[in-house]
Amino acid sequence: MGKPTIEQLRARVRGDVITPQDTGYEEARRVYNAMIDRRPRVVVRCANAGDVMAGVEFAREHQLDLAVRGGGHSVPGFGTCDDGVVIDLSRMRSVRVDPQTRTARAEGGTTWGDFNHATHALGLATTGGIISTTGIAGLTLGGGIGYLSRGCGLSCDNLVSADVITADGRLRIASEKENQDLFWALRGGGGNFGVVTSFEYRLHPIQDIYGGVMFYELREAATVLRFFREFIAKAPEELGGFPAFQIAPPLPFIPTQRHGDTFIAMVACWAGPVDQGERMFKPFHDVAPVVAEHVGPMPYPALNSAFDALYPPGQLQHYWKANFVTELTDAAIQAHVQHGPKVPVVNSTVHIYPINGACHRVASDATAFAYRHANFATVIAGMWPDPAQNAANIKWVRDYYAATAPHSEEGGYVNFMAADDQDRIQANYKGNYQRLVTVKRTYDPGNLFHMNQNIRP
Ligand SMILES: Cc1cc2nc3c(=O)[nH]c(=O)nc-3n(C[C@H](O)[C@H](O)[C@H](O)COP(=O)(O)OP(=O)(O)OC[C@H]3O[C@@H](n4cnc5c(N)ncnc54)[C@H](O)[C@@H]3O)c2cc1C
Repeated sequence: MGKPTIEQLRARVRGDVITPQDTGYEEARRVYNAMIDRRPRVVVRCANAGDVMAGVEFAREHQLDLAVRGGGHSVPGFGTCDDGVVIDLSRMRSVRVDPQTRTARAEGGTTWGDFNHATHALGLATTGGIISTTGIAGLTLGGGIGYLSRGCGLSCDNLVSADVITADGRLRIASEKENQDLFWALRGGGGNFGVVTSFEYRLHPIQDIYGGVMFYELREAATVLRFFREFIAKAPEELGGFPAFQIAPPLPFIPTQRHGDTFIAMVACWAGPVDQGERMFKPFHDVAPVVAEHVGPMPYPALNSAFDALYPPGQLQHYWKANFVTELTDAAIQAHVQHGPKVPVVNSTVHIYPINGACHRVASDATAFAYRHANFATVIAGMWPDPAQNAANIKWVRDYYAATAPHSEEGGYVNFMAADDQDRIQANYKGNYQRLVTVKRTYDPGNLFHMNQNIRP
């Protein structure tokens, strides 16, 4: 049998096969980061696992680059490629919740908005990202940090099983019982091992939370960061959230004359009993005067989409850098205080996510995600609308990163990294790297899945 033609691929696929000649190609080739401008040879918009198998085989037989797209949020644009095959899972978004076992099964193209909507209806949730349009796939495979991490662990810690199409085109189930090595690698190792068509998650009884955002004057930045460092080390695990340097958007709860000013903000989420929320937030009010705030009880999915408007898909240029931090030292805080206030535009920000609590209770070699001793994951997220501002924004991210790196771990969270961070891959996985290479050699010896923070076989 020769290599399959595009026509044979079309005949085999139930979803859409989109080439440059087809209507919809311009939209199909694009990803979330507007800076990425690539032209794949074919986009396979899959309807089911069979379509994924066909796409994988087509790419392998033609020796083409293969990009896999879940939610499309990858900052380096790993969800698209030039002259290769894109497996686009955006049609595969069904979520089935089982309230008896407190689990949910979600297809590989599901977003956190889709997922939270389905689980919230049954009073359940699991750790996901803070923006509703992010894909569950890329986020979970890299680890998964969010409001619930301190209490429920990382998203990958809540993974029960995954259906994976590997480079040989076979469907394998990965869990604690089957293909354990693959299951280990999927929990932090990113998209290196195959296409996950279905994820099964453990859920927690969380429906409404108490949360929101508080803005403090920049002169309080060091005080707020020092407070957060001490407070979050001992705070009840139901409390999540993060400090951020943030330009005030034109929102009704912020005084009009302060719109456009830069603040140190605190975004917080109490996922314990809602009636305890006000008391839990008291320390945030005692630390420094709050200039503006929007906090209170709300459905968990409402907080998870509260900042969506700041990050419209396909309209912003993205360049990010990241580090894990074990001790947020005074020197590190000094570096934040120097660079955070220079945040260039309203969309850009810096978040310092706490990853202690339940994240620490998983051994560093129990999953591929190695930094179980780190207390924080920092992301310097440059996001701006105008390509003419690329140089200035990238410079802000790089300068900030250079100032904080000496106070951080060598590695960072793979999902917060840029395309020029590939040389950090070993550091990102520390002692787990060699085992990841072994698993890669088993399931993808030819490195078909290389559009990612790549673990070379
Ligand atoms: C606005 C924004 C907010 C974010 N917030 C958070 C946050 O709160 N917490 C957090 O941890 N991260 C966050 N991230 C980072 C996010 O985790 C990564 O960008 C992640 O890769 C996105 O996953 P995706 O499926 O949307 O991306 P994609 O671009 O589709 O994929 C990302 C990577 O995963 C691979 N991949 C995608 N789908 C599959 C699949 N089904 N099977 C195998 N491999 C696959 C891709 O090949 C690629 O390498 C955020 C990113 C953005 C842009």
